[in-house]
This record gives sequence, structure tokens and C-alpha cells, in this order.
Amino acid sequence: MSETIFSKIIRKEIPAKIVYEDQWALAFADIHPQAPTHVLVIPKKPIRSLAEATEEDKELLGHLQLVVAKVAETCGLSQGGYRVVTNIGSDGGQSVPHLHYHILGGRPLDWPPG
Ligand code: AMP
Repeated sequence: MSETIFSKIIRKEIPAKIVYEDQWALAFADIHPQAPTHVLVIPKKPIRSLAEATEEDKELLGHLQLVVAKVAETCGLSQGGYRVVTNIGSDGGQSVPHLHYHILGGRPLDWPPG
């Protein structure tokens, strides 16, 4: 898979405000926040999107979801609630082809999204 900006963040070659890291996952503040709290959770494995995950990634995907919940709690979003989004492909609005979950919170969020 080709390099993305997230590969460089994983390798710490470019700065990011990292809020969580383990062997498989990284969470960092989105550079263009769309809500008072906007964090991205990514696997260190370079999967292009959820659509390209395979059976082999089953355990990793479960882990990522638990990391999302843990990070949201750490960010103080548990009580008020929050939204988790993963954009896929061009119609989905995906701009970085490395699987990532947006955690958005800190204000009431509109539905449906645009
Ligand atoms: P998506 O449009 O769903 O692919 O989301 C990609 C997200 O990555 C956008 O919300 C961007 O603001 C964010 N982003 C791009 N470059 C960086 C960066 N260097 N550090 C943090 N977030 C970034």
C-alpha cells in the first residue's frame, strides 16, 4: 500500500498530538477539528479502509473499537455522548486512504450528516 500522512505520524516523522498508543493502534487529535473534541483512531497496520479489511483483521478491528471507547472516555466524552465515523472511498468523503475512526464530541451533533 502507498504511504499516507498517517504512516508518517505512526513513525513519528511528523508531529501529532497523540492521546493514546499501543502495539496495534494510535489515536491523535485531528488537525482540522470539526467538534470541540475530534480524535482519530487508526491501526498501525496500513489497511486502506474498512472495506479492505479481511478476516485476518478481525481481532484488530475488535481492538480498535475498544480503543475508540477507551479514548472517548479519556477525553471526557462518555457522559455527554459522542459520534464514531469511518469514511470509505470518495462518496464516503475519505481523504486519507488509511483506515481511521473519527471520534467527535463535546457538542450536540447534527443528523443526518451532509
Ligand atoms: P477522512 O476525510 O475521513 O479521510 O479524514 C481524514 C482526516 O485526517 C481529516 O479529518 C483531516 O483533518 C485529518 N488529517 C489530515 N492530516 C492530518 C495530520 N497531519 N494530523 C492530524 N489529522 C490529519
